[in-house]
Amino acid sequence: MSFNVTIDTSAQAPHGPTTTKRHPSSGISVLIVGAGPVGVYTALECWRKGHNVRIVERNPAASTQGDSFTVAPQIINHITKFWPDMAEENERISEEPWISYYRFNGERVTEPAAFDFGTKNEEGVAVPEAKMRRHFRPKFLKMLISQLQRLGIEIEYGFRAVDYYETEDGQHAGAIFADGSKIEADVVVAADGIGTKSYKAITGHEVRAWSSGWATFRATVPVDCITSDAEVNERFGVLDNGHPVIQMWRSKECTMVVYRTKDVVTWGLMHKDKGLAEENWHKSVEPEQVLEIIAQSPEANELPDYAKRLIRAAPSGAIVDWSLLWRNPQPVTTSPRTGRIVQAGDAAHTFLPSSGSGVNQGIEDSIYLASCLQLAAADGAKADVKMATKVYSKLRFERVSCCQKLGLLNHERRVNIKLAADASKVKIEYGRWIWKHDPEQYVYDNYTQALDHLQHGTPFQNTNIPPGYVHKPWSVDQIMADIEEGKPVELEGDWS
Ligand SMILES: Cc1cc2nc3c(=O)[nH]c(=O)nc-3n(C[C@H](O)[C@H](O)[C@H](O)COP(=O)(O)OP(=O)(O)OC[C@H]3O[C@@H](n4cnc5c(N)ncnc54)[C@H](O)[C@@H]3O)c2cc1C
Repeated sequence: MSFNVTIDTSAQAPHGPTTTKRHPSSGISVLIVGAGPVGVYTALECWRKGHNVRIVERNPAASTQGDSFTVAPQIINHITKFWPDMAEENERISEEPWISYYRFNGERVTEPAAFDFGTKNEEGVAVPEAKMRRHFRPKFLKMLISQLQRLGIEIEYGFRAVDYYETEDGQHAGAIFADGSKIEADVVVAADGIGTKSYKAITGHEVRAWSSGWATFRATVPVDCITSDAEVNERFGVLDNGHPVIQMWRSKECTMVVYRTKDVVTWGLMHKDKGLAEENWHKSVEPEQVLEIIAQSPEANELPDYAKRLIRAAPSGAIVDWSLLWRNPQPVTTSPRTGRIVQAGDAAHTFLPSSGSGVNQGIEDSIYLASCLQLAAADGAKADVKMATKVYSKLRFERVSCCQKLGLLNHERRVNIKLAADASKVKIEYGRWIWKHDPEQYVYDNYTQALDHLQHGTPFQNTNIPPGYVHKPWSVDQIMADIEEGKPVELEGDWS
């Protein structure tokens, strides 16, 4: 078994014509490298915006790996609005978990409660569109791929990019693959995740990554693995009302999250990194290694025996030890000479799990990018791709950087005693400015001003960041030094 469970993806929507409306042809060809959630969503959105799409992936087949992530309201709402074929399936494959907090010794601190991103709108009224949706990555990805097939677009597997380039005349960009073959297009999107091969063409160097000192064990196992142990089965059960529940166990040093649905139990355990963890979804550790590391921490070792048995129930190969790495915000995501190579998703930015942003900001990238290219071609003249992708970068960077900062502070708030004293400033999970956002409309409303700003220096201020916040460059080291010196963490504006 690898870091996944065989999730039944057979109950998919049938293939057939799509009901999604396509915009007129833009004449722009787009090559997407990487068929993770962001690559596939980029292909969908580029098709919808009238671009000609080709998508390639290094793996020999669709990936069924991964556990679960939260797909935030701004993305769910986009699917519902523009991809009706997927909307019903999206409802069916997602879960609406409740949440309950525990101490590390198993004592329950809060009763399970429904969870959403912000129960009230500006008028103080509860908003159903802010519900929390948990998706299993394999099912979510399969849904996106099925939609791509409905459009008649097949992912071309077995293409491992080793480099990206721009043509001499600046009219095209391309990707070079492991077998020496090349594919060119007007725009090449590097959606090849962490470790993208596009750095050389974009920044000239890899983005530095270094250990935060923390790592997370994570595993997903079929419920059959625990049903024979009555206590484990009961302690980590589904709620009587049918909702799965996220149990959040917290101590000063560790956080454990257990999430049980009808089919699977998925758990994560944040712990001090002993130098064994990697940013690698394919390298596994054994349950006894997890328990050995837990045993070294007095707080973690408080886990009751039934929780340790949950860990032991994971079959060999089912647990990964994911290293939590720091990376500074990266403002440059397009190739400087022609703008024809563009990064999206994890290739452009990474997040700590505490930001809840990985898949969501990645899919926002897809929507912004496809819309920028659409608007660049809208006047019928040959699209100025370089300016379109520069606008994309301009509209994305500050928002992404705010989500990264939020993830960093939420993480430190949990693990850093010095920050706990200043908790009121950073006790934020997922602000309205993130989830109450319409990515397409934002591009439509701001493209021209951002373009004028880049071309003529006219004033332009992004409004997709916390209201009242003025973006200033920051670095992980600088924030950590401020925390160390006991300086308050300043978050001007409204991050709620
Ligand atoms: C196997 C796997 C399992 C994951 N599981 C989880 C999870 O359980 N929970 C979670 O929150 N996040 C998970 N993630 C990460 C999550 O999908 C991303 O953080 C987020 O969704 C952004 O997606 P992405 O498409 O940008 O990147 P990714 O999901 O990483 O997708 C990148 C894609 O590019 C392909 N690729 C990489 N290098 C090349 C290359 N040189 N040439 C061609 N193709 C290439 C990869 O095979 C992959 O399909 C997982 C990622 C992977 C790859």
